[in-house]
Amino acid sequence: MSNIAAHLDDVLSRISRATADAGRPAGSVRLLAVSKTFGAEAVRAALGAGQWAFGENYVQEALEKMAALAGETVDGKPLEWHFIGPLQSNKTRAVAEHFDWVHSVDRLKIAQRLSAQRPVNLPPLQVCLQVNISGEASKSGVTPDEVPAVAHAIAALPNLTLRGLMAIPEPEDDPARQRAPFRAVRALFDTLRADGLALDTLSMGMSADLEAAVAEGATMVRIGTAIFGARDYSPRA
Ligand SMILES: *Cc1c(COP(=O)(O)O)cnc(C)c1O
Repeated sequence: MSNIAAHLDDVLSRISRATADAGRPAGSVRLLAVSKTFGAEAVRAALGAGQWAFGENYVQEALEKMAALAGETVDGKPLEWHFIGPLQSNKTRAVAEHFDWVHSVDRLKIAQRLSAQRPVNLPPLQVCLQVNISGEASKSGVTPDEVPAVAHAIAALPNLTLRGLMAIPEPEDDPARQRAPFRAVRALFDTLRADGLALDTLSMGMSADLEAAVAEGATMVRIGTAIFGARDYSPRA
């Protein structure tokens, strides 16, 4: 088994154990494999192990990988590409044209552009609203106060389907303290659902805190390092 296949197995076991520990049904948490900075060969190794949904942060890098992997399928399913990085206005068209999901919608204007630019021959773009749950000035996302108004406005856009909320809490090593921000996102999610929005996705949890996120209701975890290894951001020679 390749390293990547073995790591995927380990991550799936962690997810299963966390799901069972939380008393949640088996299979209620999806794995998004975050392949940013890794090439098409790494993605291909994950495909061989049955993984078919991938998260990317950089538009140009992602488009190159999509082209290299065009036509690949897993059990007859085409690959599913999720944009999870900060999204500037000048990149929305490429994202609307090439991705299946966007987790990092962090203002209404970006959602409006994605909806206007989504090609009519494609299904609606699946989106999550990013919440700045730790209140860090440098992190993107709407504040918890802003969530209801922005979520309802996004849900009304024609070419998007609002699926839920996404958050990246401030890194916290102590597992006991990892849960509070996830619990706060879950509370916002429950409020939106009680208000009538048909949401089914809580995108939260990464390599270092997936157990805490699953314990608090995550339905999709975004895992990079634990599958592909440490990322190297140094410029390529
Ligand atoms: C890079 C990234 C991840 C993956 O983080 P790991 O700690 O490597 O698992 C998840 N979500 C977002 C938004 C990211 O940018």
